[in-house]
Amino acid sequence: MAYDTNNIFARILRGEIPCQKVYEDDHAFAFHDIKPQARVHVLVIPKGAYVSMDDFSFQASEREIAGFIRAVGKVARDLGLADPGYRILANHGDDSGQEVPHFHVHIFAGQRLGRMIQPR
Ligand code: 5GP
Repeated sequence: MAYDTNNIFARILRGEIPCQKVYEDDHAFAFHDIKPQARVHVLVIPKGAYVSMDDFSFQASEREIAGFIRAVGKVARDLGLADPGYRILANHGDDSGQEVPHFHVHIFAGQRLGRMIQPR
């Protein structure tokens, strides 16, 4: 799938759409999810144009990947989530229900998060 430069997160990165920003560095940008699904629900996105985890893990440079993963950990730490804990999640493709075609990691926290996935 080709990257759509007008997807909502690309527009947030360009400052065209407002967000509640949490963190920014050379590789990553983090902001609160507009429809939180936990008491804490933050999204971390790479600054590069990658559609999903599949695209990012395949095409991004080592520097971008390391910078992004470090940023996810830093955001969680800075928000005080390392203890008592948090969950990260990334959707790729139709079966996952991915809605926004710019790679993003969800950070969920602030409550007991229950099972990883609902039983079928
Ligand atoms: P996905 O289903 O693609 O993994 O997750 C997309 C997430 O982006 C959803 O949790 C949704 O609430 C969030 N989202 C969609 N549009 C916006 C927006 O305009 N601003 C913010 N902050 N979050 C958004």
